[in-house]
Amino acid sequence: MDRISLSNTAFEGNNNAYLLRSNGTTAMVDTGDATDETRDHLETELADRGLGFADIDLVFLTHFHGDHTGLAATIQDESGATVYAHEDDAALISQEPETQEAMEQKQLAYFDEWAIPEDQQAVLRSIMHGEGDMFGAGPEVEPFADGDSFQVGDYELTARHTPGHALGLASFELTVDGEDVVASGDALLPVYTPNVGGADIRVEGALGKYLETLIGYIEADYDRAWPGHRDPIEDPAARAETIVDHHEERAWRVLEVLREQGPSTPWAVSAELFGDLESIHILHGPGESYAHLEHLEADGYVEQDGKAYALTDAARERMAAVDDDRWPLVDESYEQTL
Ligand SMILES: [Zn+2]
Ligand SMILES: [Zn+2]
Repeated sequence: MDRISLSNTAFEGNNNAYLLRSNGTTAMVDTGDATDETRDHLETELADRGLGFADIDLVFLTHFHGDHTGLAATIQDESGATVYAHEDDAALISQEPETQEAMEQKQLAYFDEWAIPEDQQAVLRSIMHGEGDMFGAGPEVEPFADGDSFQVGDYELTARHTPGHALGLASFELTVDGEDVVASGDALLPVYTPNVGGADIRVEGALGKYLETLIGYIEADYDRAWPGHRDPIEDPAARAETIVDHHEERAWRVLEVLREQGPSTPWAVSAELFGDLESIHILHGPGESYAHLEHLEADGYVEQDGKAYALTDAARERMAAVDDDRWPLVDESYEQTL
């Protein structure tokens, strides 16, 4: 995979677009955002390789976020490339008005449900309405499902549905020079843990879905992952385990907040966990808190009381037996999937 690192000042650090060329076919995985700056940068990088947008035959998108999909329509306009995305994100990427409207309504409802203060909601609304620069136009999208395979010259790409951070997040597996590698999008990142709960409010049970995705990564034990941001991950299974640990520590902190503060809203939990938040993190903080609370509620350890969540007796009992500031999550969700 030929990695092109594209600047991105808004999100998790530089975005990666990947080029895969074989036997006269040129494919790209993710495109970077739709800003002029990123378009110029991508054009320059392609020109250095003797290519232009018109030479791209296939575009594979990992998920709907603008920093991954923004230039897909521009590339498609110039080349007629087929743009592929998972069926759960396809309509958002092609910017079908009904799907976008439903998403926005759901987002606004969650702002209230999570008890985000009005002045902070106003910041989020202005970000949502200013996102056009990043998302660009909507391409025509060919939807795929988990397990679908695609030929790129001599390479075979297999799509894996890896939801959590986004509902239709897909990873693409392939074998390169005898190594089993995967383009992981934001399912597995090397520095930050991908946001769950706020990054795509459509995902029900986001934390549980993401833990299953991470278990899939541990089981697949790829030789390398090519993430949507930053540098390649040389031991994806180990990185997935680290992210599981992180969520077990976070779940413990969420429970501790409830034990110390009493019934708390996702916004109040977020304030304890993350402090003051700016920009899109105003959504990601309470979203991630909610994802944890929702997961703990499904397991019977918290219960909802209006917009607040409170510990159950089962949680208090089990917490008393924990001595490592970690709330076991994966054994349980793993058993649930068996
Ligand atoms: Zn993302
Ligand atoms: Zn991203």
